[in-house]
Amino acid sequence: MERLYDIDSYIKEFSAKVISCDETENGFKCVLDRTAFFPEQGGQKGDTGKIGDVGVFDTQIESGVVYHYTKEFIEPWKEYFCTLNWEERFLKMQIHTAEHIFSGVAHRLFGCENTGFHLDNTVTVDFDILLSEEQLMVLEYETNKAIWANKAIKTYFPEESELSKIPYRSKKEVYDGKVRIVEIEDVDFCACCAPHLKSTGEAGLFKILWWMKHKGGIRIFVAAGEMAYSDYRNKWENVRMVSNLLSVPPENVAEGVKKLNNAYSEIKRELAEKNNILAEQFVNSLPYKDGNHCVLFEELNSNALINLVNMGMEKCSGMFVLCFQTENALRYIIGSNSLDMGEKAKEINAALNGKGGGRGAMIQGSFSASFEDVKKYFERNDI
Ligand SMILES: [Zn+2]
Repeated sequence: MERLYDIDSYIKEFSAKVISCDETENGFKCVLDRTAFFPEQGGQKGDTGKIGDVGVFDTQIESGVVYHYTKEFIEPWKEYFCTLNWEERFLKMQIHTAEHIFSGVAHRLFGCENTGFHLDNTVTVDFDILLSEEQLMVLEYETNKAIWANKAIKTYFPEESELSKIPYRSKKEVYDGKVRIVEIEDVDFCACCAPHLKSTGEAGLFKILWWMKHKGGIRIFVAAGEMAYSDYRNKWENVRMVSNLLSVPPENVAEGVKKLNNAYSEIKRELAEKNNILAEQFVNSLPYKDGNHCVLFEELNSNALINLVNMGMEKCSGMFVLCFQTENALRYIIGSNSLDMGEKAKEINAALNGKGGGRGAMIQGSFSASFEDVKKYFERNDI
């Protein structure tokens, strides 16, 4: 079987004869006499496209044989016009080649070894060394400089004697006993069997998105080529929306959000203060009662409500029952200086179709009952 992607990674359509087409659990798997479909390997998904009119949804390699997966049977021993899903394939070439440049620069500048690569909807590169943010930014810039320098990329199978003189990074990609070298002029030598770009400039742009510690080293989420452009566009649209909402220039949105956040914190602080004053005024207006006090008040922030109940507990000898209506339920906070409310909770919830509990002097929860019924219950059970 002739591997056209080895000869020219830019072949997007070709004619080939179907050698076999066998049914499997997952559709049909077809073997061609020649193929430009690159199979899933080294963390990169297999190519998709068409054989004649039939869609190829995956390409895999087993024992050196490339299998094209289709949903329909294709009659063998006929010649078909085959097409790759070129947009998808070119994007993979952009990202894959950018990863070579990135790993080559990381190796040269910081002695990193690439320990993993994954190319799907997200793209990750793993290194054995945990790099700092500053190092990553240097690395990102140097990778882009190598892309903009538009260096030539060559692939070849050197003889044993020549190979020993090449200082290549290895992905241990060996083909029929031969090592395939991918040389990026002045940047990197690496053994790899995947399709690459002809020159670094076609990778367009490289961007680190975020990173995390990984197995003693680092996992870096990256984007390149059209993927980096889409990511930029999506983020630009978000920044533009934030910029419009805050009425600040796009380059100052972080400062704008910081100011908004400070203003919000100040409003929250003022509101909490006013909530406490309201709660205090309300409790002060209540008379002392022997037995239970049951009151309905508006919903305040939770600190103010707890303070209200703490103060209310001093206004009665039994339970101070505070109810407030939220959107979904009649909520309660009940406190007592004389009773263990944790123990009382079950009895109260059972009587008023309630949920919730707590420990010691205070319990919280909600009732599926009207405030009038709640009030009647606690007045009936005065102690
Ligand atoms: Zn490669």
